[in-house]
Amino acid sequence: MSMKGVYVLVISVDEDIEVDVGALGSISFEKGLYAYVGSAQNSLEKRVERHLGRVKRKFWHIDYLLDNDAVKVVKVFYKEADKAEECKIAGKLGEKGVAVKNFGCSDCGCVSHLFRVDDYGFLRDFMFEMRF
Ligand SMILES: [Zn+2]
Repeated sequence: MSMKGVYVLVISVDEDIEVDVGALGSISFEKGLYAYVGSAQNSLEKRVERHLGRVKRKFWHIDYLLDNDAVKVVKVFYKEADKAEECKIAGKLGEKGVAVKNFGCSDCGCVSHLFRVDDYGFLRDFMFEMRF
């Protein structure tokens, strides 16, 4: 199965950390939950698998965050959709959470695609949970 779509990674940061996020520089992350939205126009499953594993060559901002030992993906949500939906979901996350400015949105007009969130249950209203 090869699906194109949008995904949200729910990420647990287990302690306060400072991460060098490539061109963005050093960013402080407080212990807590974060939600990151991305999209894959070819294989959504492969992209999510990439995020769940260790990547040697960092390409996206999220690669730098996920490489930290105190960081793990705890849930994955997805939806079959085109790229426009990615930014719509970023907007929804922005209403519920606090943006980590400029993260993951180099090629769109969003404030961010990564948000500190208290709760992610609302994602279930319009996305499916991916088992992994
Ligand atoms: Zn966007």
